[in-house]
Amino acid sequence: MNIALIAHDKKKKDMVNFMVAYTSILEKHTLYATGTTGKRIQEATGLPIERFQSGPLGGDQQIGAKVATNDMDLLIFFRDPLTAQPHEPDISALMRLCDVYQIPLVTNLGGAEVMVRALDAGFFDWRNLQ
Ligand code: PGA
Repeated sequence: MNIALIAHDKKKKDMVNFMVAYTSILEKHTLYATGTTGKRIQEATGLPIERFQSGPLGGDQQIGAKVATNDMDLLIFFRDPLTAQPHEPDISALMRLCDVYQIPLVTNLGGAEVMVRALDAGFFDWRNLQ
């Protein structure tokens, strides 16, 4: 599975903790991330991650391009709902593309835990249902 990881600044600690907790599951997959999120995860876990630009500099759009070509299977996107982001249009566009292409998107820690456990249990063949 190709998995994209994004965390807004106030959610980066949550993302790092999540990735440390679930490294044994996530290391079996191909990981992508926006710039700073990927750097923080790499420093904490040593996992190989393909890093795009930072979110405000186009990273969300780069991930969106992969969604649009069906090259992304899951987005784990820890959004900060309490802080305005300069790249809000990019965030909306990325989430919209996930809906267009029926790509699973979770936007908080609770959803991510359920999703990763489902991934580990092999319950991840939704593409066959379409
Ligand atoms: P970053 O981008 O991982 O480079 O911080 C994410 C964002 O803030 O949109």
